[in-house]
Amino acid sequence: MKRRARTLDFRGMVEHRHEADDHLDAPGQAVVVHRGVDRSLTMVCPDGCGEVLTINLDRRSGPAWRVYLEEQALSLYPSVWRNTGCRSHFIVWRSRIYWCDWGDELLSVGVVFEARVLQALSDTLRPYSDVAQELNEVPWAALSACRRLQIRGVVVEGGGDRQGWFRRERT
Ligand SMILES: [Zn+2]
Repeated sequence: MKRRARTLDFRGMVEHRHEADDHLDAPGQAVVVHRGVDRSLTMVCPDGCGEVLTINLDRRSGPAWRVYLEEQALSLYPSVWRNTGCRSHFIVWRSRIYWCDWGDELLSVGVVFEARVLQALSDTLRPYSDVAQELNEVPWAALSACRRLQIRGVVVEGGGDRQGWFRRERT
């Protein structure tokens, strides 16, 4: 089994990509390149393959991820799924790395937040990322809440191309 990082080690912000290299030598270490806006997240691949990943954060240059910073904890949305090299697939939430192929479960966000998510849902399917935006939270928090509400039978997930969409269970 490979030695995979379990946490993202956020080393701070730099203005230019080449400055990131000084901060990066171990799997999971990451730097945000920020010049006016977030440009990229540069990260040593957390699975230990040794590659440095440059994840685009700037919508002007194509499909973009979004970084959320709370204190020094970093979240990234959506997940990273490499289609070359090691083909790692992982989620970063509050500087913790969840490995999708290991079936890692997102941590609980607590019943208070779950109740807010339930309130934001109706009997029409809605993507969890929309709920997160409305509640001003990281999408992974909304997904975690939806999954737990689903286990309790109060929320239902859509199927097919409506995966990741949730609604209240009709009573
Ligand atoms: Zn890798």
